[in-house]
Amino acid sequence: MVAIDDLVDKYMRILSVRGPRPIVQIKTRLGVDWLARARWSSRSPTTVIEVQRSVLGDARTLERVVAHEMVHHLEYTQLTPEEIAMLKVGIKPPSHGPKFLHGAQIVNDVMGADFVTVKSDSQYVQSASERDIYLLIARYGQRLGFAWAARLTPEATSVVAEKVLKGAKLVRTRDQRWTLARSKIKKYGGASFPQQGSREEAELRALYDGSP
Ligand SMILES: [Zn+2]
Repeated sequence: MVAIDDLVDKYMRILSVRGPRPIVQIKTRLGVDWLARARWSSRSPTTVIEVQRSVLGDARTLERVVAHEMVHHLEYTQLTPEEIAMLKVGIKPPSHGPKFLHGAQIVNDVMGADFVTVKSDSQYVQSASERDIYLLIARYGQRLGFAWAARLTPEATSVVAEKVLKGAKLVRTRDQRWTLARSKIKKYGGASFPQQGSREEAELRALYDGSP
């Protein structure tokens, strides 16, 4: 596995960052659509970069993600006093504005076109999570809807028991994409419906039909 510290060193150099290194934290967050994010706070001495554990398995994705966040770090080290004053009252500069694009270009001149894009911390397929998640899939007329849970709490278990009696199926999957859906397995948690004709709909159908 590539050491993240080495990647941070590399992009501190490529981006000629003057100022402190960022703090990097590895996180396992389900139900979010970012692979990594960089956060600035007036209470923190430097940028905090959070990286989802799920990207650690793919060296190129990891490097692209770290490079993207390092461009944000560069931006944060160059904040003007006016921008800092604005941030303190909650007004953020555009997150992928001209300063970001300038930093991205510096990286891409070295690493190749589109190595860093405005979406390279959110768009890439994450490797399978080391944790299974649960999907409760049920028929609603002609359609299938689902709710998800990372763990089956006693409340979730009773919801599952009740729905399975009515024909729903509980399946396990490592595909974290489902966790982007709003509906969790809980009382009155509702159901989420993939768009009709989408790949998600076909995959949900396969999970449903493939389970006993
Ligand atoms: Zn970004």
